[in-house]
Amino acid sequence: MARRKLVAGNWKMHGLSADLGEVTAISIAAETIDADVALCLPATLIERAARAAPGFAIGGQDLHQAGKGAHTGCVSAAMLADAGAALTIVGHSERREAQHETDADVKAKAEAGLAGGLGVILCVGESDLVREAGDAVATVSAQLDASLPHGNGASAGVPARFAIAYEPIWAIGTGKVPSTNDIAEMHAALRRRLVAAYGDAGLEVRILYGGSVKASNAAEIFGVADVDGALVGGASLQSGDFLPIVEAAARTS
Ligand code: PEP
Repeated sequence: MARRKLVAGNWKMHGLSADLGEVTAISIAAETIDADVALCLPATLIERAARAAPGFAIGGQDLHQAGKGAHTGCVSAAMLADAGAALTIVGHSERREAQHETDADVKAKAEAGLAGGLGVILCVGESDLVREAGDAVATVSAQLDASLPHGNGASAGVPARFAIAYEPIWAIGTGKVPSTNDIAEMHAALRRRLVAAYGDAGLEVRILYGGSVKASNAAEIFGVADVDGALVGGASLQSGDFLPIVEAAARTS
């Protein structure tokens, strides 16, 4: 099944007003590129970025699963949408580790995002120890099974607004990338889990690869079966680094 590629940038805790020019440069170029493009920004930049780049997909990097309440420092799906976000990341490994987010938390966040009308990119991935022990596929498959959104009307939003990002933790920000065989093996396993969970709709959910994607390796990664795009960290901060990745995605669409 042909799935349109999605390339999403994750700016993490980078970006001030002075960087909005990069958002507009990326959004203008994205209009003429045959791939879906999004930038997941710090919450402080979402509203201004959405105003500066109307029609372009601006996202958050996390949300709280509750609609509102006593959750200091958190934002809800409705708050993200109100600020102009069209999507959000959930379950990034940096949050799973530093904020101790469990699979159950990530599932609840994904359900809240979809129920709130947002697109959701749900991240899964293994540590280097798990990879070295030969347990990567089993571990990430189990992580996906336990994190997948169900109920709350969320499945009605699958697959149009829902994507998975396979991000090996050891590949994030390190310059290390799995072999294309290892990426293919993992994406095929995740596809099987999506079909087991959602039936034929699972064939339409995009599975992104994330972890040290650069202009120099993007085409090779996008050429792997069941790689439907990328979640890009460091190389998404500058349009000059990010746009060649988006163009490589368009060439393999
Ligand atoms: C990420 O953190 O989602 C990521 C993929 O980072 P990088 O591209 O910098 O490895």
